[in-house]
Amino acid sequence: MQPAPAVTVRVPAKVNVQLAVGGPRPDGFHDLANVFLAVGLYDHVTARPADTGAPELTCEGPGSEDVPLDGTNLAARAAVILAEHHGLKPAVRLHIAKDIPVAGGMAGGSADAAGALLACDALWGTRTPRDVLLGLCARLGSDVPFSLVGGAALGRGRGEQLTELPVGGTFHWVFALADGGLSTPAVYRECDRLRGPAPVPEPEPHPALLAALAAGDPHALAAALPHANDLQPAALSLRPPLADTLDAGLRGGALAGLVSGSGPTVAFLTADAGAARTLAGTLAASGTCRTARATTAPAPGATTIVSHA
Ligand code: ATP
Repeated sequence: MQPAPAVTVRVPAKVNVQLAVGGPRPDGFHDLANVFLAVGLYDHVTARPADTGAPELTCEGPGSEDVPLDGTNLAARAAVILAEHHGLKPAVRLHIAKDIPVAGGMAGGSADAAGALLACDALWGTRTPRDVLLGLCARLGSDVPFSLVGGAALGRGRGEQLTELPVGGTFHWVFALADGGLSTPAVYRECDRLRGPAPVPEPEPHPALLAALAAGDPHALAAALPHANDLQPAALSLRPPLADTLDAGLRGGALAGLVSGSGPTVAFLTADAGAARTLAGTLAASGTCRTARATTAPAPGATTIVSHA
């Protein structure tokens, strides 16, 4: 018997080991120097055939009640944009199994968009070339191309102009997941408000940070992490208890800690797998976060793990 047609794609979360933010541009976006690192927390996006004119969506997992199930969902938008590109109807049932925190500063929605693009491309047999897929990703959002590519990359422009970066080893991270999310646009607005009218320097990647990544050296990377996220003061201003989470992680043995992207997830770098496991336990019991997860980086980008198309 033939298996039912279904394609499941696994997509990683990201942490920004550097997020240098320029001043607001006339179009409302900010120029960035964004050092993305894909980490081993994953959403799974499954595509199955349907005979409707629009994507049908279901979602399960922590925070899934806050994920829109209409055409605004980034996975649904990805299916529509791919179908339009090929002159097809976006007839698909998409199921998202979420493990990436929703509105957590780890690009969960972007991950689902990249996952849906790959899953629909396989389900529909459209064989879209990689560079075209990357172009569609950039139309969907600044972080979506990186979700497809994974590993580590420097993002310029709004973050969508990617250059892959070498990583010389495995890094061990702990993520303190918060209750509730933070709105990315609200965090950028708060960043602009805190900075006031003073001119902001052009965002540039930090050479010592890129060298630490290339060397796979957690101690050197830790030395470069404090103040690497220009959105951190804004996230702390909007969510002051995150300072307690940062404190708990540093007292619990992290080499360094920083807010992940626009937050409220807090990322901690540790020396090795044992230190990460211990810190995850300490943080989970600290009362300063909902839970804590130990994982490694870099993780691969969007990957097809089941294909019965
Ligand atoms: P980033 O790190 O890219 O700034 P984030 O990780 O903070 O984003 P997301 O989980 O991507 O935040 O979600 C931001 C908002 O996008 C959610 O509050 C939700 O309303 C909307 N959204 C649309 N599609 C999705 C999706 N597939 N998963 C999660 N949220 C989605």
